Amino acid sequence: MTLQAFREDARAWLAERLPPSLVRNGEGFNGGTRLPARNPDTMRWLEACYERGWTVPTWPKEYGGAGLSHDELKVLRQEMAAVGAPVPLTGHGVTMIGPTLLEFGTDDQRQRHLPSIASGELRWCQGYSEPNSGSDLASLQTRAEDHGDYYLVTGSKIWTSGAHYADWIFCLVRTNNEGRKQEGISFVLFPIDAPGVEVKPIRLIDGSAEFCQCFFDEVRVEKSDLVFRENEGWTVAKRLLQYERMVSDLDGATRPVGTDLAATAREFRGESGQIENRVRESVLSVAMDEVAFGLTQRRSTEENQSGGMPTFATSMFKYYSTELRTRRMETLVAARGTDGLGWEGDSFDPAALADTRGWLMGKAGTIAAGSSEIQLNIIAKRVLGLPD
Ligand SMILES: Cc1cc2nc3c(=O)[nH]c(=O)nc-3n(C[C@H](O)[C@H](O)[C@H](O)COP(=O)(O)OP(=O)(O)OC[C@H]3O[C@@H](n4cnc5c(N)ncnc54)[C@H](O)[C@@H]3O)c2cc1C
Repeated sequence: MTLQAFREDARAWLAERLPPSLVRNGEGFNGGTRLPARNPDTMRWLEACYERGWTVPTWPKEYGGAGLSHDELKVLRQEMAAVGAPVPLTGHGVTMIGPTLLEFGTDDQRQRHLPSIASGELRWCQGYSEPNSGSDLASLQTRAEDHGDYYLVTGSKIWTSGAHYADWIFCLVRTNNEGRKQEGISFVLFPIDAPGVEVKPIRLIDGSAEFCQCFFDEVRVEKSDLVFRENEGWTVAKRLLQYERMVSDLDGATRPVGTDLAATAREFRGESGQIENRVRESVLSVAMDEVAFGLTQRRSTEENQSGGMPTFATSMFKYYSTELRTRRMETLVAARGTDGLGWEGDSFDPAALADTRGWLMGKAGTIAAGSSEIQLNIIAKRVLGLPD
């Protein structure tokens, strides 16, 4: 099929199957059954896309994908963005462990795990960080003892997003204490409800609980779920992080740029009737940088030098997009003046409250998947070739 024919086919299908209630109003669904979608149309949309292989459009058909080329994917994204169609399935399965298994998994692992990721049946979480290992991830101490066909895993992971809603976890464990710390790490998979796993949600300041601490006490992990080779999990772990960092990049590619900042600044110009110079400058600078960044992303996608795969340069996009989002939210909160201080209560309108929370959440984006400082270290070493 030519690209033009593919475009027309996709357009016609979207016109017929996209539920109107989801147009520019997607809620994001991460898979699994423990946190159901609020809108039933979200599940209908997921099923329709899954039938077509469009939850994971570039994956091979045998694993639930549509086998699309990178160019076809680009067309599909354009058509979906044009009609305001939400991405049918997000989360750690489709964005992180799925692509990693396609690269590093055995045939058996792909066959067992990928179809239930593509359908959204199972949700995954990420067991990387530990109470004493964040940026210095390779210092992790959760250990896996070799028992022939299986390991017994003991230790603890922290900041595990959505572990209380997940079905499976991909996890970094120490299988060797000698030599360089990176060389004794293995990458394993196991069900989050396996005997010996305890998942404790961590309450955040706003009362919600997005993160958990996970405790493992001699959890049995079959060797058939060791990904790649024993003690070589660091290679897999770094690759998965690149996929994770690519998510913020994709996010930005479909996000409208430079829209409501100026309107908000005009609306809240205060008693003097003037927009404060500080706010005016900040609105201008963020809006211009958003347009420039959007164009850079588009150019990078069109040049397609990496065939749609992440590279070390992905860190540049992760760094810039999360820092820019933080500046946008700071500007919005500043433009609102005292109205931007609201945390809860009837005296603040819902949009102001959402902005304040979005402002704080934006900061989390500069930490998750490796902090901004860590991205700068990667760019310095791996992109610019500066010495350690
Ligand atoms: C929203 C969110 C979701 C997350 N989800 C998950 C998850 O699902 N699974 C998971 O495993 N983890 C998750 N994390 C944890 C995340 O990976 C860590 O918070 C992150 O790697 C930083 O580690 P840390 O918090 O221990 O900070 P630290 O490593 O203690 O860093 C503290 C500060 O020191 C700086 N710093 C540290 N080392 C260096 C250096 N070498 N050079 C310059 N500066 C440095 C950091 O940039 C940071 O500012 C999540 C975090 C957030 C915010």
